[in-house]
Amino acid sequence: MNACQATQKRTYRTAPAAWRVIQRQHPIKSRQNSAAYRCPHCHQWHITTHCRHDHPVDWPLRKLAWLEREARV
Ligand SMILES: [Zn+2]
Repeated sequence: MNACQATQKRTYRTAPAAWRVIQRQHPIKSRQNSAAYRCPHCHQWHITTHCRHDHPVDWPLRKLAWLEREARV
């Protein structure tokens, strides 16, 4: 598997691939805090988990990820 050199995270080539891993690995409750997002460094997809109370600094990326998921599923 590839890893991002900028973030050291595992990369996924498509948003649905990342979402499938989220669905497989996380129970429903924590799934709400997990998101796939496109990395600005490697331009592939990573999985991130955030507490709901965190500052949503990655919201634009997350919104894009949601839209892409809706479009492709
Ligand atoms: Zn990356």
